Amino acid sequence: MSWHLADPRRFAGVRMLTFDLDDTLWPCFPTIHAAEREVHAWLEQAAPVLAERYDIDSLREHRMRVARENPQIAHDLTEIRLRSYRELAEQHGLPAELAQQANSIFRQARNRVTPYEEVVDALRALGRRYVLVAVSNGNAQIEHTPLAGCFAHAFMAEEVGAAKPDPALFHAASAATGIPLERAAHVGDDPERDVLAAQRAGLRSVWVNREGRDWPRELAPPDLQVPDLNALRKALWRNEE
Ligand SMILES: [Mg+2]
Repeated sequence: MSWHLADPRRFAGVRMLTFDLDDTLWPCFPTIHAAEREVHAWLEQAAPVLAERYDIDSLREHRMRVARENPQIAHDLTEIRLRSYRELAEQHGLPAELAQQANSIFRQARNRVTPYEEVVDALRALGRRYVLVAVSNGNAQIEHTPLAGCFAHAFMAEEVGAAKPDPALFHAASAATGIPLERAAHVGDDPERDVLAAQRAGLRSVWVNREGRDWPRELAPPDLQVPDLNALRKALWRNEE
């Protein structure tokens, strides 16, 4: 699929690019799945009673129930995971620190992401012309991933108290850089949590459509659609020429 720039002037004056992380800069599912396998393997040693009773899927179901019962922390994936492990430890008469340990193991494995092929070089090039800020609903810690050093700032939903499409992450990026949102563009894979969220908050929107999906008809289209970050770089450079 080729990229398409509806109106190149839309990106004139942009100084900051905010980036979604999961499924925009790296595939999310393989990382989460590997992290959950690691936690389960650890539980087999540390708490066999729990590991026998719960497999990866039923642990996920338990976590989703904790999230449903605590909508006020739905944006805080780390806290939900911790509460789920704590509840399970308590129910099985296991020590409370088990929950913290399981959570740390997940956290470390969660940072072992594999960026898409073009990402590191493209971010370095983009970073020479724009201020780059990571804004994620997930809980990967960018400075502990292979993309350490690529961003001026990074914010997670759990730090700002709300997940996209809420504009809190964009406001945090603007406050940290001093760059107003009208001089920013947001880059992400999710039509609602990235593109719609950016449109509502007053940023330009870039849809990273790696799988060649159709744009949802009920939503206003993004300012720019690209298959990867190389195409984004080419589109922005062309705009400046
Ligand atoms: Mg995403």
